[in-house]
Amino acid sequence: MGRKFFVGGNWKCNGTTDQVDKIVKILNEGQVPSPDVVEVVVSPPYVFLPVVKSQLRPEFQVAAQNCWVKKGGAFTGEISAEMLVNLGVPSVILGHSERRSLLGESSEFVGDKVAYALAQGLKVIACVGETLEQRESGSTMDVVSAQTKAIAERIKDWTNVVIAYEPVWAIGTGKVATPAQAQEVHAVLRDWLKTNVSPEVAESTRIIYGGSVTAANCKELAGQPDLDGFLVGGASLKLEFIDIINSAT
Ligand code: PGA
Repeated sequence: MGRKFFVGGNWKCNGTTDQVDKIVKILNEGQVPSPDVVEVVVSPPYVFLPVVKSQLRPEFQVAAQNCWVKKGGAFTGEISAEMLVNLGVPSVILGHSERRSLLGESSEFVGDKVAYALAQGLKVIACVGETLEQRESGSTMDVVSAQTKAIAERIKDWTNVVIAYEPVWAIGTGKVATPAQAQEVHAVLRDWLKTNVSPEVAESTRIIYGGSVTAANCKELAGQPDLDGFLVGGASLKLEFIDIINSAT
């Protein structure tokens, strides 16, 4: 069976209750392919998760943007995987580059979080990606492989993992990776999984692209053989997110 196209919307730290209502309306009214063809997951800030989950069309799912590395307790300001499960939130984004760079999350810490979230029954969108400096110094493949290895060392079952390749230099900058640049890294990641995990996991794991995806550039990116969908930031707050979902067909 082929890999089902996956489109995630990462709202980041954006939105008021009014804006959330508007985005949910756009999502609920949009003409999109059937859920057999595309899996759509939107990730509002924690405080809006319950309202978005209750109002969103049933074939779309919600994801949290982060969760804590172990069982909850005395960790002020954190949200545990158990709480997400308790609220019926099925998925979580982990290891986003903004958290890696601004909040100092190491690859090991991200790997621990992925393992813990999966063990609690969550699905995980695990983000990897190189900085501009790393790309210019030729270490892109080493960086993304090491970030993936830190996850692979801690998990056995990849069924509930989607890898999001998000070059840091492309996030929120308007500088999208070319289809060839994205395909090159996706193919390396798939090959890494084949060699280091298994051919089956390499074949079945979705590797999605993120970084300045828009309605204008999504179609060509979606045509790349190893690109199985998108993680969309800025454009996921707008009507064009519907066009991006439609790039699945
Ligand atoms: P962007 O963000 O689409 O605004 O570049 C992508 C992301 O950070 O997931």
